[in-house]
Amino acid sequence: MFIGHFAVAYLLIVLFPAVPPLVILCGVSFPDLLWPVLVLTGMETVAVNPDSPLQNAIRFTSYPYSHSLVTGSLIAAVPGLFIAYFMSPAAGILFVAASASHWLLDVVTHLQDLPVLGFGKDMKAGLGLWNYPKAAFVLELAFYTVITVLAVQPALVVPLLALGFAFHLINANSFLGFSRKNPFTARSYAVLAIFGFLAFIGGLNWIFATG
Ligand SMILES: [Zn+2]
Repeated sequence: MFIGHFAVAYLLIVLFPAVPPLVILCGVSFPDLLWPVLVLTGMETVAVNPDSPLQNAIRFTSYPYSHSLVTGSLIAAVPGLFIAYFMSPAAGILFVAASASHWLLDVVTHLQDLPVLGFGKDMKAGLGLWNYPKAAFVLELAFYTVITVLAVQPALVVPLLALGFAFHLINANSFLGFSRKNPFTARSYAVLAIFGFLAFIGGLNWIFATG
């Protein structure tokens, strides 16, 4: 999931106006900012199926640090403590809560591969919306649109929708399967993820800062 995570960010930004939007935008993205780094360093693994571009053909074979509820939240608490110390306790708490919201939303779309603890005899969560890729494409876009329209101040709605739609369209091949092959390897997929999130966060932060 990509743009859906940011719908939650917009809600939190509206509810907690004293916290800088950038903290919340980075918070909801934190697992997917950490994940590419861990994949590229070999600490987590992913298997991309070259014969399908669809999300449900990607096997997240191991991501106990970036994408577990418990361990992932403990790791998010490290930057959270810095943010709490240098900014405000509320900002630090919100960063960790935003990061946990990422896991909760990923549970809706991912196959049953999301670790709960991230260690020991673990349980895996995932409702598998990605098994219905066209529905997943429409529902994530609808979720993003409805929350943006209802929650965000009117002047920001159009730019946020435009940027969100653009990035959702960039991701469309992974839902709608225009290409028969997957153009990415595990490593290029990780690189794409980190640049995609950083570019989107940068664009959003600019909209919130200037709007
Ligand atoms: Zn994720």
